[in-house]
Amino acid sequence: MKAPSLNTQILLGALFGVLVGLYFQTLGVENSLVKGGLYASGLVGTLFIDLLKMILIPLVFCSIAVGIANLRQHSQMHRVWVTTLVFFAFTMAIAVALGLFASNYFKPGSGLEIAMFADSIQNFQAQQLPLPEFFAQFLHGLFMNPFAALATGNVLAVVIFALILGIALVVGGERYKNILGLLQEGLELTMRIVGWVMVLAPFGIAALLIKLVATQDTAMLGTMAKFMTVVVGTTLLHGVVILPLLLYLITGKTPLWFWRGAREALITAFATSSSSATLPVTMRCATQHLHVKPEIAGFVVPLGATMNMDGTALYEAAAALFIANLVGIDLNLTQQLIVFFTAMIAAVGAPGIPSAGMVTMVMVLQSVGLPAEAIAILLPIDRLLDTIRTTVNVQGDMVGSLVVQKLVNR
Ligand code: ASP
Repeated sequence: MKAPSLNTQILLGALFGVLVGLYFQTLGVENSLVKGGLYASGLVGTLFIDLLKMILIPLVFCSIAVGIANLRQHSQMHRVWVTTLVFFAFTMAIAVALGLFASNYFKPGSGLEIAMFADSIQNFQAQQLPLPEFFAQFLHGLFMNPFAALATGNVLAVVIFALILGIALVVGGERYKNILGLLQEGLELTMRIVGWVMVLAPFGIAALLIKLVATQDTAMLGTMAKFMTVVVGTTLLHGVVILPLLLYLITGKTPLWFWRGAREALITAFATSSSSATLPVTMRCATQHLHVKPEIAGFVVPLGATMNMDGTALYEAAAALFIANLVGIDLNLTQQLIVFFTAMIAAVGAPGIPSAGMVTMVMVLQSVGLPAEAIAILLPIDRLLDTIRTTVNVQGDMVGSLVVQKLVNR
């Protein structure tokens, strides 16, 4: 009998993970089978993420430098830059608007009071993060000693250095053709290794989902049900309707075609809750399954993984309104506009790691005078919501690479 394709195996792995996780949930964490199972799934899940992270930095470094070098050679650098940034900003703005609109309409949190959450807030010290300081920190983090950035896995700083190196390689021309060739071969090699890591993906994804589902604190879910439904519903609306519609209108590609090519990355994003850890898989899907030219994907996808976060932007805005409802403050139009912009900035500034959005959310809350401690209320449900927003974040990067490729006509 022929073995099922990797895509099918990944889907089966995800399904298996959710079912076993639910079963473990019914047995309770004290059960010895569950303890053993959680230990084993912890090991396998972490191993999968470690392998992705191992290849992440060399891949980002080579793909950006080679991508930029090739684009400059075709004098298309400028158009790709501008189209990419406009697309990122446009789709994030739609996402935030959706989040604000749905929260105003459904008013999640209006029947609840912040006093009900006194326990979780009490032991929580929120770090202050005013906008100017956040901006200064962000700017400061862009330029780093490249070796330190490579060694510590700082994706954004690696992206920036690789960008500059790519430009220098082309400006230098023929002289540096050996280094460019070396980076090109490096890119091919890293993609080959990504292919090997993917063989483990069905197991890694199953393990991550077992752990996630089995360790959810279901008690909180009831109180937060309305808020969660609004967030999940709007995020899905963005991922299932808005982004596919944009893709169809601009490139003529159907949602089914996109799903077939993108599902490896979408499911990995769901299970890992990390755009960065998923990045090697996203690159593979974009270049090998969705047929985006490596120089476009090599630029748009890594940049998107660190900057373009539709799901996070939507969540930051919806959560701010939820907390405003809890504390009984009605945000007026100007305040909502402030939320609109800070949510976008917060999403751009959030690194692609699990729960990163929670950290930058402090800034959104503070911008309109909401209590930063209130994010303690969101922490118990964050891991669950992070799955879907990360999936949409990664989807936005792949849709972006297809749209940019079409618009710059390559
Ligand atoms: N986990 C998200 C990501 O990696 C970021 C966030 O927390 O919203 O894309």
